[in-house]
Amino acid sequence: MQSLIIVFNAGSSSLKFSVYRMDDLKINLQGEVENFVTKPNLWLKSESKKKYIEKNLFPETSKVVWTVLEEINKASKGHKIAVIAHRVVHGGKLYKQPTLINAEVLDNLRELIPLAPLHQPYNLDVIEASMEAYNNIPQVAYFDTSFHRSQSYLAELFPLPLKYANEGIIRYGFHGLSYQYISSKLPHYAEEKAHKRVIVAHLGNGASLCAMKNLKSVSTSMGFTALDGLMMGTRPGNIDPGIILYLVNERGYSIEGVQDLLYEKSGLKGVSGISNDMRALLKSNDPNAEIAIELFCYIAAKHISSLLPSIQGLDVLVFTAGIGENCPQIRSHICSYFSWLGLRVDDKLNRKNTSKISAHNSKIEVYVIPTNEEAIMAEEAAKLISH
Ligand code: AMP
Repeated sequence: MQSLIIVFNAGSSSLKFSVYRMDDLKINLQGEVENFVTKPNLWLKSESKKKYIEKNLFPETSKVVWTVLEEINKASKGHKIAVIAHRVVHGGKLYKQPTLINAEVLDNLRELIPLAPLHQPYNLDVIEASMEAYNNIPQVAYFDTSFHRSQSYLAELFPLPLKYANEGIIRYGFHGLSYQYISSKLPHYAEEKAHKRVIVAHLGNGASLCAMKNLKSVSTSMGFTALDGLMMGTRPGNIDPGIILYLVNERGYSIEGVQDLLYEKSGLKGVSGISNDMRALLKSNDPNAEIAIELFCYIAAKHISSLLPSIQGLDVLVFTAGIGENCPQIRSHICSYFSWLGLRVDDKLNRKNTSKISAHNSKIEVYVIPTNEEAIMAEEAAKLISH
């Protein structure tokens, strides 16, 4: 009988899950519920079989989660589920470490929904359904904010009256599980340089940067919410807050209208008027697609520069996530803004998406490392259970 770890990763549009074996941390079973809220469609694949289930489910979160658990159970007959790990986007000030979930923890996490309205409600609904199904199995929350709690007081502070910081309005930062995964793997690629001055660019539909020293977060581009920092798929990133005041006061925007503009209608999608999908923009001949791509790269470079004082220079730049791992054009465009620092990309290596893409004479090493938020949760869960 093997012990298994279930990892849930719920987003606003999909619920991904993986089942890992505790002894070797290999994946036994993997699947996803696409269009998780509106028209859930489940697929599963196992170590031995390719996609072997594809079915539509009733659009109700608890029923979707129970069906997923039922299918996992069927496929894992004779094995024991030792722990269920849940990705939670916001842990606030309270949760700096993976946390065993109970009713009180759930209540505290619900209070953070306004800080991450796109993800937190789905994360918590999945946890609740999973706890109803398995109240005898430990369920642990892994937070996207925890990795950044190594930031200094100054790095966390917004220049507002200090009482706001005392009340929890600080730079929490996000994508922490992705950064934790990269920080755990970077020594394998960059050896001793991994411990020096590093910036990781997580460029996916959500996008952010993390500056690290000694593999710990020193500063990050996302803030109190996941709206800050880089231009993203549908979010604008950092903009003049006066624009919001103007839209509300002068143009009659409602708060819901502003929220929709900032979370759903801006970024690559808003500027291009075409799509938030970088693949579609790279293929398009529309001049607005080109503007969106150029702005994405320019803003990423601007924010990379803004993190440099916090680590006093740069030895290693890492690209990860959907765009960072797969788009050589975007990587070379962003890197071109740093030729004055002696950063050189080897075009051939870059086009091949190899792990090291900097030229041999580059003063800064550049890597492409695929991220894996679920794997780091499984590793951590295995450690937790075996202690
Ligand atoms: P993520 O949020 O990490 O899943 O990344 C999603 C983004 O990555 C979308 O903009 C996709 O268009 C982009 N992406 C994913 N795969 C590729 C690929 N093979 N080539 C170009 N862009 C990609």
